[in-house]
Amino acid sequence: MTTAATGASSALDLPDYAPVPPSSLGPALNDQGYYVGRVERNLYWVTDGTYQSAFLTTRDGVVLFDAPPTIGHNLRRAVDEIAAAEGVTNSVTHLVYSHHHDDHAGASSLFDSDVVRIGHEETRQLLLRDNNATRPAPEVTFQDRYTLEVGGERVELAWHGPNHSPDNIFIHFPDHDALMLVDIVNPGWVPINNLNLSEDVPGYIQAPATALGYPWKHFIGGHLGRLGNRDDIQVHQQYIADIEASARQVLTTVDPTRYFVKYGPNVWAAVRTYFVELANRAAAPVIAKYTGVLAAADVEGPPPRS
Ligand SMILES: [Zn+2]
Repeated sequence: MTTAATGASSALDLPDYAPVPPSSLGPALNDQGYYVGRVERNLYWVTDGTYQSAFLTTRDGVVLFDAPPTIGHNLRRAVDEIAAAEGVTNSVTHLVYSHHHDDHAGASSLFDSDVVRIGHEETRQLLLRDNNATRPAPEVTFQDRYTLEVGGERVELAWHGPNHSPDNIFIHFPDHDALMLVDIVNPGWVPINNLNLSEDVPGYIQAPATALGYPWKHFIGGHLGRLGNRDDIQVHQQYIADIEASARQVLTTVDPTRYFVKYGPNVWAAVRTYFVELANRAAAPVIAKYTGVLAAADVEGPPPRS
């Protein structure tokens, strides 16, 4: 492709969207492109503004939770920075996978081959299938629950059924008032691309209620630039409930007849145009309600007219 084909002028044709609410943004990144902060006590989180990882420093080593490739080598820098400041070992001894997806696990191979990788048994199966050297399969696996104890610290891992992916787990830090649940709720933002590309939509819709069933104050959602709180989960639940209610409402009000009359034997054309109309009508009131509340509320709807 030539430079001319991707010239800057084509950007002028791209649609405009509502500004990101300031409350959806997180702390500024440093010169190396990351931010590392304390969640509580010796639990820390790292972000590049789009992806999030977390780590626990202990007297026996550092436990890392996810290794997004966009943060990549900055994970090591963040761990080194905190370990030096706290006077503890910077040796990463354990790596917990939230789920098998490359965008949260693809920097796993940056850590020593003798790190202990932990994940759901389905994560192991999916990573063995994917056979990607950047994401070695976990050697330590569990089916429903696993208590990880390292250097006097405790983390509770649990699988509550499929949601975003078949293997996505809940990572509870009972002594740090925190929960890590990735690719379900994006604090301050709407989900991207059909509920964060979820494979099991009923499971995805149920997961925030399961999250609220745990005691915690700090939420690590795996995406965007800030941590979440319990209010963020409730706003997300209301947003999803509003989509569901709006969708049910348009199903009873949009008459499909004219699409089938227009396209005759081409039933796929009728179904497609009918579905687009349903989606646009269902989305409109939800976009209006959440624009200015959740970032990108207008992005998932029909492209705005310029
Ligand atoms: Zn994912």
